[in-house]
Formats: sequence, structure tokens, C-alpha cells
Amino acid sequence: MIRFDGVTKTYGAGPPAVDHLTLEAATGEITVLVGPSGCGKTTTLRMVNRLITPTSGTISIDGVDTGTMDLTQLRRGIGYVIQQAGLFPHRTVADNVATVPRLLGWSKAKARSRALELIELVGLEPALARRYPAQLSGGQQQRVGVARALAADPPVMLMDEPFSAVDPVVREQLQQEFLRIQAELGKTTLFVTHDIDEAIKLGDRVAVLRVGGHVAQFDTPEKLLSDPVDDFVAGFVGRDRGYRALAFAAAPGLPLRAEPTIVLGATPGDVRAVGADWVLALDDDKAPVGWVRTAAVERPVDRALLHRGGTVASTNGSLRALLDAALSSPSGRGVVADADGRFVGTVLASDVVAAIESERDAQRASEGGAGPAAYDHDERDAP
Ligand code: ADP
Ligand code: MG
Repeated sequence: MIRFDGVTKTYGAGPPAVDHLTLEAATGEITVLVGPSGCGKTTTLRMVNRLITPTSGTISIDGVDTGTMDLTQLRRGIGYVIQQAGLFPHRTVADNVATVPRLLGWSKAKARSRALELIELVGLEPALARRYPAQLSGGQQQRVGVARALAADPPVMLMDEPFSAVDPVVREQLQQEFLRIQAELGKTTLFVTHDIDEAIKLGDRVAVLRVGGHVAQFDTPEKLLSDPVDDFVAGFVGRDRGYRALAFAAAPGLPLRAEPTIVLGATPGDVRAVGADWVLALDDDKAPVGWVRTAAVERPVDRALLHRGGTVASTNGSLRALLDAALSSPSGRGVVADADGRFVGTVLASDVVAAIESERDAQRASEGGAGPAAYDHDERDAP
């Protein structure tokens, strides 16, 4: 556990960059610090590994005041990843990753095999180990940065906007990969970003900071979306938050509707025999591949005839995924597949909304009545 206790940092004569910060980052979890530029995120992070010394207050790791620890000892226990990877340009990828193990006195062979193991863990081709950083894409460099930080297996990871400088598609891949690695390794991670969507996706708990390093709200992503404490947080969390909160609501036991289907290769006659405007096509493994418009089928159904807009929800997915499947489907019937990707039935948007409402009723009943719901500012985001 990393604990900040009344931590303040003042640069020169200016106002505090971080002002009496008190916060706990739980062991084995991802704690995200999110907030606008200049709110003190980097300062906060760098005080943990003492790249910056707090003006006052204490930071402890597992109960030990970091200010009293031997600096080398402290930093050995902390992996640090920054936005531009910060790789050594004249060292190969493998040597970059092996840096800390070598400093710790590991043999060349042992450090090298550890580096190769990590290069694989972060999803890089082993062949890249011999390249130099400049020969990698930005996304690959970030992966190397993560591998290097993990090399000595530190219990704590500090990550300062590690995925901010790559394009959105690569960022999404890096985020997924990072969550997979974290599920495996369970590091106590302090993750800094200015991107609220990233915070919500990655954080077990998220601290929303305002300028001056003040914590506006520290909560689970679900709670931030469903119950922002003030206008600043509501504005920062952004639009569509009611819809986005559905991503955290599991959809247990929603009744599915039966749907006649065809397989790829079905004739125009087969399709018309279904008697619907839109007909769902499956592949040989019973996986849904797309809808076809009956009126448009004049040859056996192939992939070129498929409508590509619909998303597929999973039976163990979220209410958001189910609602999206329904809304994106040209037939209005959302496609649902099981964990193996096999088609199991459809849902209507109205089914999903009914499930949301009954879930809400159940929650109110268990909380002992509705209470004064704060809907008074619902139009805040309206244009
Ligand atoms: P963030 O990472 O959230 O963008 P920073 O921690 O980098 O914020 O900065 C917080 C505040 O401290 C900003 O106002 C910034 O200008 C100021 N600051 C950061 N580093 C220094 C420094 N070395 N000297 C003076 N002011 C600084
Ligand atoms: Mg910063």
C-alpha cells in the first residue's frame, strides 16, 4: 500500500503544486490519478520514488516512510514508466530491459533470459530484442518501457501517462495488454493520466484531481460515473456518463428472444422463407457474422451481402454491450453470443432498459426507499 499523508509540494514562491494530499493506493490494485494538465499528477508520482522531495507530509509504502529509506533500496522496489518510454538509444531492446537486473548484479545470462521473458510478456516479438529503440514504433517502445520497469519484479509500479503519446488504436491495445499483465502480476500501481476514459477503463479506484493537487473525488469508476460529488467531477467525467456507467453493470439473466437464422451460402429462397426484413447469418461454428436484408439477396448469401454495423454482446457482458448490440443492429434486435462466440438469441433495446429499471428498483428497495435523488442538474451537459 502506498499512503500519502498530508503531502504538500511547493515549487519556489508559487502556489502549491500539490496541497495536503492524503490518499491510499491499495496493494495489488491500479489506483489512477486523473485530472487536467498542471494539477500536480507528475509531481505526486515523482514524490513516491523521491525524484521530487515533498515540502511537507509523508509518503509511506507498506507502512515504511519513504523519506527514511535508502534511496537505492526504495527505487529498486519501484518500476517507473514515463510517456516517451525514456529508453537508452544506444542499447538494444534486450539490454534496455536488462538494465536494472544488471545493476543488481545479475549475471549477463540471467539478466538476458529475464529480459527475453519480459519482452514476450509485454507482447513483443522475440526478434525485436536485438533492435535499437529508434527501430521500433512508438507503441513498441512503450511496451519496452513497461518491460524494463518490470524487470526486477518490483512490487510497486509508477506510470506517468505511459500510453498518451500513441495513436488511439495502439493505445487501446496497450491498455488491454496492461490489464492482462496486471491481472497476472497484481502490482501496486499508481497510474497517472489526463484521459478520463483511460482512468475509467484501467482504474480499480480513481482519484480525480483539480488544480493544486486537491482530490475532488476518490472512488471506483462506476461510482464516479453514477454519482459524481460536484460539478467539477461531473464535468470532468463528461457526457454520456449514464450510458457509460452501464459498462459496469452486469446483465444477469436477461431473457433472450428466439431468432431464426440462416448460414452463409443460404439461397435467396431460404432467406425469404424466414419471412423477415432482416435475417441473421451464422457461420459454420454458429457464430453470428452479420445481418442480411432479405430484399437485397439475389444470390447465395456471402460475406459481401452482410451488414457490418451491428455489435455482438456476450451473455456474460455488460448492460452497455447489450444495449449497444440492440441499438447498432439494423433489425433493432441485438445479437447475443455465449462465451464461445455461438449465437444464443437477441435482445431489444426495450428489454435492456426494462432490466436497467428493475435493477434500479431493486437497489432502491434494498437501500430502504428512493431518497432525495439529485437529478436537479441533469441538464448540466445539455447543449
Ligand atoms: P501534471 O502532471 O498534472 O500536468 P505537474 O505535477 O507537472 O502537473 O505540475 C503541477 C504544477 O507544478 C504546475 O503548475 C507546474 O507548472 C508546476 N511545476 C511542475 N514542475 C515544476 C518545476 N520543476 N518548477 C516549478 N514549477 C513546476
Ligand atoms: Mg504530468
